[in-house]
Amino acid sequence: MMNEKVRALLNDQINKEFYSAYLYLDFSNYFSQAGLDGFANWYKIQAEEERDHALLFYQFLQNENQPVTLEAIAKPDKIINTNMDVLRAGLEHEEYVTSLINAIYDEAHKDKDYRTMQFLDWFVKEQGEEETNANDLISKMELFGSDPRGLYLLNQELAARVYSAPSLVL
Ligand code: MG
Repeated sequence: MMNEKVRALLNDQINKEFYSAYLYLDFSNYFSQAGLDGFANWYKIQAEEERDHALLFYQFLQNENQPVTLEAIAKPDKIINTNMDVLRAGLEHEEYVTSLINAIYDEAHKDKDYRTMQFLDWFVKEQGEEETNANDLISKMELFGSDPRGLYLLNQELAARVYSAPSLVL
């Protein structure tokens, strides 16, 4: 039987991942309105990934025969004035999500819940990648973003991103 504290944290993570999707869709909307369709594409795909994460937590609880409760998704609340604000908010958010995944892992570990730990292993790796991607984007923006031609090329690069389903299948 799954520990109630672990279950509640996994259940809450469904909501957090949907919030992430909502936040990234808001970022995509910002860039769409700014005319940077490549950045808008990149964040829209990011939103799709986050929705997939939410569904993975949902499916894991279902597979474990655990009850699921869906709560209201909060309004995206990041204050955005510049392009760089978005990128920095993205990194800050991923660091926060990493701390959430680690906290669930910590509870599962305390309870010797090896199945949940194994499920979370994929997310531990994923969070490393998310933070790297967010950092890389900030670095590129710092290097090239202040030059209109640099920004144009970076926008083109981000326009090439395509959606792919998560490698974790439950
Ligand atoms: Mg996620």
